[in-house]
Amino acid sequence: MAEFDRESILLAVSAVRQRFGDRADSGAALCRQHANTITWLENQPPDVVVFAESTADVVETMRIAADHRAPVIAFGAGSSLEGHVNAPYGGISLDLSRMDRVIAVHSGDLDATVEAGATRVGLNSFLRDQGLFFPVDPGAEHATLGGMAATRASGTNAVRYGTMRENVMAVTAVLANGEVVTTSRRARKSAAGYDLTRLLVGSEGTLGIITELTVRLYGIPECVIAAVAPFQTLSGATEATMLAIQTGLGLARVELLDPLQIWAVNLHAHLGLAERPTLFIEFHGSATGAPEQAAAFRDIAMDHGALGFEMADREEDRRRLWKARHDAYWATRSAWPGKMTLATDVCVPISRLAECIAETEADIARLGLVSPIVGHVGDGNFHATPVIDPDNPSERAAVEDFLKRLADRAIAMDGTCTGEHGIGQGKRGYLAAEVGSAGVAMMRAVKAALDPAGILNPGKIF
Ligand SMILES: Cc1cc2nc3c(=O)[nH]c(=O)nc-3n(C[C@H](O)[C@H](O)[C@H](O)COP(=O)(O)OP(=O)(O)OC[C@H]3O[C@@H](n4cnc5c(N)ncnc54)[C@H](O)[C@@H]3O)c2cc1C
Repeated sequence: MAEFDRESILLAVSAVRQRFGDRADSGAALCRQHANTITWLENQPPDVVVFAESTADVVETMRIAADHRAPVIAFGAGSSLEGHVNAPYGGISLDLSRMDRVIAVHSGDLDATVEAGATRVGLNSFLRDQGLFFPVDPGAEHATLGGMAATRASGTNAVRYGTMRENVMAVTAVLANGEVVTTSRRARKSAAGYDLTRLLVGSEGTLGIITELTVRLYGIPECVIAAVAPFQTLSGATEATMLAIQTGLGLARVELLDPLQIWAVNLHAHLGLAERPTLFIEFHGSATGAPEQAAAFRDIAMDHGALGFEMADREEDRRRLWKARHDAYWATRSAWPGKMTLATDVCVPISRLAECIAETEADIARLGLVSPIVGHVGDGNFHATPVIDPDNPSERAAVEDFLKRLADRAIAMDGTCTGEHGIGQGKRGYLAAEVGSAGVAMMRAVKAALDPAGILNPGKIF
């Protein structure tokens, strides 16, 4: 089904250019920028970029694409890490970043409806005066909420507030034939038929183009305390995390950085932290509850070989800390200039986390790789980030071996090859091992039912 007729695609391109004028641009640099630019996967540009400004624009684009059987690749900010926005068959990149309005905030119901191109940072600055916030915070601050829903993204807060899976209540999406569907209403729960919201969340632009989303909001906590705890050993840090989670301690964030990652972050953000396995933790609660949680975690940490436990409750100190954590990927890139980095993304049940990280560290040493480790360890999710010269065949082969072994290891531990980045092009090879051939067949059947011509983001997931 993936074969496309080049002439038909070019007819679709000229039809969208005619319809959208200067909002449809085939400039080579713009098209390259709308394909994968972040990882070692090849850059595969579309033929044209269409800037949508409304659901009606998306409907028209889809109708033109359907008429000519041309690929359409939704584009938010292009921050995805597995070649998601590549256009291996050319076609139309449908950029939703101009659709960034906050449509409605229902503060009494703790939800908001936004256009798909709105960002978390934009939504949160809109909400600040209302004492509310939206929690899901991937490291790429400019990621759009539509793109985050499409990749089922998460971030440092997921241990307490969940991922996009838990926080998207409904989406409005344009289907491959140009029909518009709204998957749910604003009720907090519904048992009305199949869960279409969850079907579209994580569908990576392969089942529909999300134009609006209704998301959950939360009250800004009365008291927020951040802390930094260096540990003697990485296993001490992961075991302390596991115990804190298992005992129900209400951690809002718990992030692990290994010594190499701390070194890179220090270089980038001048934090001056000890180069030890380190947890960045945050507690949210009442003026008495948050300090109690922090004290309880401190005791657990000290019992597991923490070398210190430094708290920061001033907002500017917390911001500096979390900015440094969010910039970890770029810190790694700039610490090894001229090299390429890859963000792996396995996630395992929390009880297997220490074992999975230990085996991964042993693999890094055995293969002679340079690979900082950073992770949302409260969810059992971590990113080993190999630093490589992609033009060096032996380094590339070693990393490919490492990636496969890491995915196999996580799946064997009843985990996943991707906790939050998605499958895209890069992880297609692991899907069957994770969900089985019946699982892949079921996904293919859904895809075939909703997009029989295969025009929505072809070459991804399968
Ligand atoms: C430095 C860095 C740190 C990161 N940290 C994290 C992290 O902590 N957690 C995490 O989860 N991710 C993380 N990511 C990955 C990334 O930010 C996410 O994948 C993000 O959710 C994608 O949003 P986007 O707007 O950039 O989407 P894009 O990259 O533009 O698109 C991603 C996919 O979604 C589809 N898509 C985009 N918009 C829509 C739409 N409106 N409707 C339907 N499909 C759509 C695209 O076709 C594509 O398949 C990080 C990335 C970087 C570069």
